[in-house]
Amino acid sequence: LKTVQIEQVARDVLEAHGCVTAPVDVFGIAQAEGIELASGEFGDEFSGRIEYHADLGKFILFHPEPAQSQYPARVRFSVAHELGHYYLEHHRELLLAGAAHNSSADFICDETLEREADEFAASLLIPHFALKSKLAGRSFMTLAEVLKMADEWQTSATSAALRYAKFAREACIVILSERGKVLYWVASEEAAALGFRFVARDRRVPVGVPTALVGSGDLVQNHIKGAGVNSELWFPDRYRQTDLWEDACRLGGTGRILTLLSLSD
Ligand SMILES: [Zn+2]
Repeated sequence: LKTVQIEQVARDVLEAHGCVTAPVDVFGIAQAEGIELASGEFGDEFSGRIEYHADLGKFILFHPEPAQSQYPARVRFSVAHELGHYYLEHHRELLLAGAAHNSSADFICDETLEREADEFAASLLIPHFALKSKLAGRSFMTLAEVLKMADEWQTSATSAALRYAKFAREACIVILSERGKVLYWVASEEAAALGFRFVARDRRVPVGVPTALVGSGDLVQNHIKGAGVNSELWFPDRYRQTDLWEDACRLGGTGRILTLLSLSD
């Protein structure tokens, strides 16, 4: 499935359930669909699971109890992810068939389907209209604004940043790193088109950039450090170099650093 198709399914769900204000009530959506919510203590490794029970004629969605979780935003994301398996048609077909053949374990392991469910979750938790109104009359958001949006819609900062990078018209790159090592990154369509494919050598964070400084210093969590940097630092193999703006902050509760690189015109 293409990103736009997944986005459309999420839009339809939001519209059908009349979700117009923050945050999106993922539990309410599940209930309104007749999905049974089963929360409990399933251990730290467990994030969520949806099963179809033919004998009961219904779906059951297992998830950690948000009130007991250290990261309620993560529980919301997990529930939204499981709803992706419910709403995306070929996922649901597998669920319905999987329950009959008891092969749901294979289903959960399929990486493409997992990515699709993640994309659905991101599109559901931060609706397109929220991004659109934030970007009205302008083309970019700062990291501070992305963090504010994450708070408002009760999602993790990382998923809000990734959602923004996928939605943004401007050239920007979102990077998640830990102890000087890049864990994950995504370039906006425009950034990829301009040749900003990630080539930082050995996936090391360059020395001296804001990302390195918030990682080494004792800056408080969610304190943003920003500076202009030359693109050569992050993209040494790119032929034509240019100025970038880099915002970075340490994410609360983890040692991870979230970075937003924007191409200044
Ligand atoms: Zn899944």
